[in-house]
Amino acid sequence: MKIAVIGTGYVGLVSGTCFSEFGHEVTCVDKDAGKIKALENNIMPIYEPGLDSLVARNVGAGRLTFTTDLKAAMKGAKAVFIAVGTPSRRGDGHADLQYVFAAVEEAAGYIEDYTVVVTKSTVPVGTGARIKARLTELLPADKFDVASNPEFLREGAAIEDFMRPDRVVCGVDSERAHDVLKELYRPLYINETPIVFTNRETAEVIKYAANAFLATKISFINEMADLCEVAGADVQEVARGIGLDNRIGSKFLHAGPGYGGSCFPKDTRALVSTADEYGVPLKIVRSVVEVNEARKRAMAEKVIKACGGDVKGKRLAILGLTFKPNTDDMRESPSLDIIPALQDAGAEIHAHDPKGAEEAAKMLKNVTFHDEPYSTMDGADALVVLTEWNQFRALDFDRARGLMKDGVLVDLRNIYAKADPAKHGFRYTGIGRGA
Ligand code: NAD
Repeated sequence: MKIAVIGTGYVGLVSGTCFSEFGHEVTCVDKDAGKIKALENNIMPIYEPGLDSLVARNVGAGRLTFTTDLKAAMKGAKAVFIAVGTPSRRGDGHADLQYVFAAVEEAAGYIEDYTVVVTKSTVPVGTGARIKARLTELLPADKFDVASNPEFLREGAAIEDFMRPDRVVCGVDSERAHDVLKELYRPLYINETPIVFTNRETAEVIKYAANAFLATKISFINEMADLCEVAGADVQEVARGIGLDNRIGSKFLHAGPGYGGSCFPKDTRALVSTADEYGVPLKIVRSVVEVNEARKRAMAEKVIKACGGDVKGKRLAILGLTFKPNTDDMRESPSLDIIPALQDAGAEIHAHDPKGAEEAAKMLKNVTFHDEPYSTMDGADALVVLTEWNQFRALDFDRARGLMKDGVLVDLRNIYAKADPAKHGFRYTGIGRGA
């Protein structure tokens, strides 16, 4: 089947590439000519493990192309996926839908034969209905349907998540749209992937409910960590102790500096705003947002406290800047709150991130970036782990301590066994490890 994907970012590029791997004929469109040119030369605009080889294979097979020309991309396409950004609107936290509606307007101009307009972008409940209303003004009713097909991939594991998802959710209001989406995802039927067909509104809510629930687990365990810290308990063991209960599950129970990234912060805020508009106050999700905001601020204070209550003039070595490992995505990373707060308190910041430094340099001021971890530690007063990249787990503690002026180690991801750094002369502070 021929399809077009509007927006060639994390979601559009991965989805488009994976659809082509399924055997479909995919054209990925983006307004950013630089991005498209780079992709034509197999230079990925994002860091995502395995993506470059998958793109190269499908481009080579003639199933995947990149263009800025939407008209050409839509010629003969049975479905057009909208995978543009839906960032937080300034002021009210609502999802900013301007890019989605701009894409809808543009696509409408090129619809000739029946086409399913599919939102893959995360959009508030009711958006599909608004898109349908707008398209009804522009096109005859038999030329289009509007469907919702939210995406659940995780950055860093995006290809695996797309090719072998826990489930696919499709919100449709016509049999024709149902059949197009069913045909697109047919390769997944072979693996018996659950494909949830439902109405559009339900699909839209499923996406936000999933993200809000996962964010809730994170804020929940972070609050438990605070209790553990003062009450002599260990949050790692609490997480294991509750996570082994199948009704709870062990995922998303890692205490840390608060959730970040391109989805959870904006989606939890947007869900609260959307529900407010519907007159339904979501008290739990609102608290999750508040707990997370407060947590990021509290983390800088934690580092300062570990440094004896003062970081003025002190050199801090920071390991990890991205919101999680295996991505270069810096959007709403906790580091963007924690580092400026430490700088405000007078600290000098030296940082290393395996993939995120280039993006981080656009967002953080007065940070000295290093290509490898150990040079950050040269003469440092404290070492702070902000992101749990695998390469930091097997740190050579003797070498690190030898380089540093003082032995403060603040592990905001609990990647080290509590006793290990102490054996090498570090004074260790983790998260929720009061035991
Ligand atoms: P992104 O910012 O990485 O990419 C969006 C792309 O769309 C950009 O390249 C931009 O140039 C392009 N674009 C915008 N308007 C356009 C237009 N009119 N025509 C052509 N191109 C246009 O965004 P993303 O992270 O891929 O997220 C996209 C959507 O998917 C969001 O709604 C997000 O919430 C959702 N989502 C993201 C993830 C994730 O992990 N990043 C996961 C699930 C869902």
